Amino acid sequence: MKTTRILASLSLLFCAQAWAAQTWITNVKLVSPEKLDRIETGSVLIEDERIVRVERGAGKKAPAGARRIDGKGQYLTPGLIDSHVHLFSIPGMSFEQADQKKPMAAEYFAQLPRSFLYYGYTTVIDLAAVDRQLINRVKAAPLHPDVYDCGAPLVFANGYPASYLPPETRFEMFSNFIYDPAQADQIPARFKPEDYTPAKGVARVKADGAICVKTHFEHGFGTMHNLPVMSPAVYAEVRAAASKEGLVLVTHGNSFEAQTFAVNGGVDVLAHGMWNWGRMDKEKELPAEIKQLLDKIAERRIGFQATMQVLNGMNAYFEPAYLNNPVLAKLLPPSMLAWLKTPEGQWFRQELAENETDAEALKGMEVPLRRQRQVVAYLAGKDANFVFGTDTPSSPTYGNIPGLNGYLEMQDLHNAGLSLAQLFKAATINNARTFRIDAQVGTIEAGKVANLVLMKMSPLDDIRAYDSIDTVWVRGKQAARGSLEVKP
Ligand SMILES: [Zn+2]
Repeated sequence: MKTTRILASLSLLFCAQAWAAQTWITNVKLVSPEKLDRIETGSVLIEDERIVRVERGAGKKAPAGARRIDGKGQYLTPGLIDSHVHLFSIPGMSFEQADQKKPMAAEYFAQLPRSFLYYGYTTVIDLAAVDRQLINRVKAAPLHPDVYDCGAPLVFANGYPASYLPPETRFEMFSNFIYDPAQADQIPARFKPEDYTPAKGVARVKADGAICVKTHFEHGFGTMHNLPVMSPAVYAEVRAAASKEGLVLVTHGNSFEAQTFAVNGGVDVLAHGMWNWGRMDKEKELPAEIKQLLDKIAERRIGFQATMQVLNGMNAYFEPAYLNNPVLAKLLPPSMLAWLKTPEGQWFRQELAENETDAEALKGMEVPLRRQRQVVAYLAGKDANFVFGTDTPSSPTYGNIPGLNGYLEMQDLHNAGLSLAQLFKAATINNARTFRIDAQVGTIEAGKVANLVLMKMSPLDDIRAYDSIDTVWVRGKQAARGSLEVKP
C-alpha cells in the first residue's frame, strides 16, 4: 500500500515536471519556408510537444525556468518531411532473407527511426502500410519521426505490384484490391465484386486512419510488362471516393502514359518522376507533348515526387565505393553492413545486371537518368509543386538507406535544377500543405508540433547544410545528432 502511494506521488511529480519543461532556443537564424524573404534572428519556445512562442529579433529574454539553448551562428529549420517511404522493407534484403536473418532485421528496424532523424527527417509518410504492426513498432520507439500513411495500397486486381506475388497469396497480401469483372475467372470466388469497389476500398483506407490513398498505373517491367491497369472510369470512382473521404490521392506512375492518365483523372500527388517517355524514348530534348503535360502539373499544383534515388539507388551496385561511405556505419547495424559486403549480400546486383560489367550497367542507366533530370529541370523552371519524397527503399536496393537516401535525393534534385529554396520548400511546407498536415508541421510557428532541426549551415546557402545538423527535436524531444548513430 505504502509503496503504491509513493510510486503514485513520484509519477505525479515527474508528470508535473515534464509538463512544465520548456526549452528556449535563442539567438538563432530562423529559416521557415513561409518567410524565406526575411531570415531573421529569433527565439523559439518549446513546451511539451509544441512550439508555443516564436519571437523575431535579437536579445529576447528567456522565460523563467526554461532550458536555454544558444543557437548563435546556427540555423533553425522545421523538421524535414519525406512523403514517400516504405517502413516494412529492408534495403538490400529480400523478404525471404529478412525472414531468415531475424536478428539482423530486428537490429535494422531498431535503428531505422534514428537514421531518418539523423538527417533531419522528423515526419515520414508511408505510402504502403501493408503491415501496420511494423508502423506501430516504429511509433513505439523512444525517439522516432512522426509517421503518417496511405493505408493498404488500393491495387487493381492482378495488377502492379500484387502481380509480383503468386496468385494464391496476392489477394491476401494486397487484400485492398479493386475487382475487375473482365478478370472474374482470375479472382478467387470468395471475393465478391460488391465488396471490392473503388468506394469500398477507399473507405477501408480511411477507416484505417490513413491521410492518403495510393493507387498505381503501371504495366510492369522486366518479365512482367502487360499487367492490367484501371480504366479512366474506375480511376474517376477512386477520385470521387478520395474527395468524399478527405484523402489525398497519390498515384504511382513513372511514364508519360501513366502520368497523363493520372493528371487527366485529377491526381493530387504523382509518386514518381518521369523517366520513361514511351514512344518518345528516343528523343534527346524534352518533347513538346511532354512539356504540355508538365505545364498542367505545374499549373494545377499537383504534388510531384521526383524520386530520383529510385534509379540512382540501383546504381549503387555498380559503384563499389558506395558501401565504404563512412556514414553507412552510423546508419546500419555492423552485422548488416558486413553482410551487404559479402557475395550473398550482393544478390540484387545479379537481378539488375546479370551479365554486365559495372561500366556497362552504369551506361545503361544514363538515358533514363537524363530523362528524369530533364523533367525535373523543366518543372523547376515552372516552379512546380515539388513534394520531397524518396521512395525509401524503392526496391530491394541497398542504395536507399533511410536518412542518407534523403540527403542523396536532395543532391540529385539540386543538381537537376531545383534551387535551394525550392528544395527546402519541397521538404517542408509543400509536403505539409499537399498532404494536409500543415496544421501540425512544415513551418516554425506557434501551435505547431516541435519538430525542428538546428543546422550549422543555412540550407538556403549550401546543400551541405543538410549534413551539418547539430540537434534535432521531434515532438519536443531533443537529440544531439551523434546520439542518433548506431549504438556500438
Ligand atoms: Zn514507393
